[in-house]
Amino acid sequence: MTLLTELYEEIAACQRCELGKGRTQAVPGEGPENAEIMFIGEAPGFHEDRQGRPFVGAAGKFLEELLANIGLTRDEVYICNVIKCRPPGNRDPLSDEISACRPFLDKQIELVRPRLIVTLGRFSMARYFPNTQITRVHGQPKRIGGRIYYPMFHPAAALHQPKWRSVVKEDMLKIPQILKGAEQLGEAEPLEQAEQLSLF
Ligand code: URA
Repeated sequence: MTLLTELYEEIAACQRCELGKGRTQAVPGEGPENAEIMFIGEAPGFHEDRQGRPFVGAAGKFLEELLANIGLTRDEVYICNVIKCRPPGNRDPLSDEISACRPFLDKQIELVRPRLIVTLGRFSMARYFPNTQITRVHGQPKRIGGRIYYPMFHPAAALHQPKWRSVVKEDMLKIPQILKGAEQLGEAEPLEQAEQLSLF
């Protein structure tokens, strides 16, 4: 058992917020333990809750299509969410749910140590790009310490609003170049230190 799979067990048993009561399964996340890229979505939906896996519904299909456009498959990247349990009726996550789940996401980042974190949608963006709007910052990478953070629209938003589809596709196409830049950086620093170095 690795530290990451231990973490998954902890997440599966978690009752830190009300969402623990209503879930079918927690959805910790999945991908290689040393993935270079981590995608962080919002919250599990209906299918994710049933299967215990992230991005397996319509948004997931689209994410897979986007990844294929840059020559990647989903099992080559790490995929997780800001919160690990499905909110009732797929409502937006509440701030206390996000706070309750934050140590799990922090631990995942610490263990996987991705070079590039791609935030999908405004809830995962909010932590690294506070007080801004996704329409302003999507597609613009930000270096914090030895890691790059890259905000994108959520694939589900692009599915519901066709005008965002080409934008999401274009933003995804920039990833290989951004990753090359990330490889030139030093070791990724712990977030507490790195947050002080924030530049944009
Ligand atoms: N949307 C998300 O944000 N995450 C999932 O896992 C599925 C849909």
